[in-house]
Formats: sequence, C-alpha cells, structure tokens
Amino acid sequence: MSKIKVAELFYSIQGEGRYMGVPSVFLRTFGCNFFCRGFGMPRGELSDEANKIDPDLYTDYKTLPLVSTGCDSYASWDPRFKHLSPVLDTDAIADSIVDTLPHKEWRDEHLVITGGEPLLGWQKQYPDLLDHPKMAGLKEITFETNGTQKLSEEFKEYLVMWQMPNLDFAREITFSVSAKLPCSGEKWEDAICPAVVREYEGVGTAYLKFVIATEEDLKDAERAVEEFRAGGFTGPVYIMPVGGVERVYHLNNRAVAEMAMRKGWRYSDRLQVPLFKNEWGT
Ligand code: SF4
Repeated sequence: MSKIKVAELFYSIQGEGRYMGVPSVFLRTFGCNFFCRGFGMPRGELSDEANKIDPDLYTDYKTLPLVSTGCDSYASWDPRFKHLSPVLDTDAIADSIVDTLPHKEWRDEHLVITGGEPLLGWQKQYPDLLDHPKMAGLKEITFETNGTQKLSEEFKEYLVMWQMPNLDFAREITFSVSAKLPCSGEKWEDAICPAVVREYEGVGTAYLKFVIATEEDLKDAERAVEEFRAGGFTGPVYIMPVGGVERVYHLNNRAVAEMAMRKGWRYSDRLQVPLFKNEWGT
C-alpha cells in the first residue's frame, strides 16, 4: 500500500482560482522544491520570520504561528517541522478525507491536492488514493502546483484515462499553477517552466495564478505570461493579492483587481484570508 507524508487534511471553502467558493477537501502533502522567502519583503530581501519559530514548541498545525512574510505554509516543507506531518497509508488518508465531508460521501465537494509542492514526491502514490473505493464519487480534483514538476509518463497516462469520453464516470482534472515571480525570492529560470505547464494542459485544465503586490510584480507577470504563451500555453491567467494576513491583504486587493481589469486577466481573491484569517486548517 502507498504512503504519503501528510502535512494537513481539512475541509473548507476553496478561497482561490477557478473553484473559489466551492466546498473542498484539502490534502496538503509535505515537501517543496522552493522556499519563497521573498513574499512580502522589499525586492532583494528574504524573510527569516519562519526561521525564528521554534518547532519544538508545537505539536500540531493549528497552534503554529501565522507569518506575514515568506511562504505562508512554511511548515509543509521545512524539515524542522516534519514531526507535525505523519506518513499515512492511502487507506487511512481516504478514510480521513471522506470523514471530513458533511454527508460522509462525495456530493458537490472537490478535492484539492496542495502543498508544499504536491507533484514533487507523490505522483506514484496518488493513483492508489484516487482509486480507493471511498473516493469513487469524487468528480473534480485540483493540483495546486508551482508549475516546475514534470509529470511522470505513468501518472500522465493515469490522469488522461479519467477524461476519456467513453468512460461512464469522468473526472475533471485541474492544474492551478502558481508560478513564482521574482517577488517570491526564487530565480526566474527555476520558477518559470513553460514546457512543464504546457504539458499539464494536455492532461487537464490548467491556468496560471500569480501573486501580485506592486506594478513591478505585474510587469514580471506580463513577461512570464509572454514566455508561457510562447511555449504554447493557452489557458487563462489569474492574479491575486499578496498577503497571508488580513492587514497586508487589504492593502492591495483592490489595486490588484484593478490591474486584472486593465490587463483583461482574471482576479482571484484569497477568501481564506478575510473569511478565516488564513489560519492553518482553512
Ligand atoms: S512553492 Fe508554495 S509551498 Fe513552496 S515555498 Fe513557495 S509558496 Fe511555499
């Protein structure tokens, strides 16, 4: 039986992107190839806010402090917090997922597989989970990815199979690609991977989603979109405000909405910030 290191598993409302407002189960896997220490910082500076948190003081995600700079899900990849993320077999994960649903069975809920970077280490394990009898009624799945991880041939074939027109029961697969701009602190050549994202489009629906704080970020997003388009990507583009905490989020959500209108791109809110204060488990 396959096993996955699970950072968080919870039921909430999807706050971002295509499925904004849809009741969703979030499976947050452990591990990421990035650090994103630049979010919320002046250009060129890196946050050490999460580094100052003493992991030994915490025994579960719900009590972890929120950060206003850097990656807001730092504990889902920082090895210092790995003791908070158990390795679970796919039976246990499927049981826990269905247990979070209000009717203990799939109805209109959607599954979000997020991270960390969910396509980094667990592609081999997902078919066991998604084929589990308890997952049988699940119709829509989103992978929230940073768009840097190629799909293995086996996993690609598996996902494509769910969308064959002659299947009695099809599944809609979405890749929500939050490609990292320089404001994340990551290098352009590592973060902007048009060939990888183009491949996701051949497997399901894919869209780009950028976190924007300033006009400089918007310029970076324009350049990135040009590169993705040149690589053959045809899907929609969303931009959304920076800010894992309300104070920062409210500073720029209207400005980002106006940028989206100017560009003819889609605006994505981050409903989890005003609704739930972006607490862990929301
Ligand atoms: S890619 Fe996402 S999970 Fe990974 S460090 Fe960046 S913001 Fe955090």
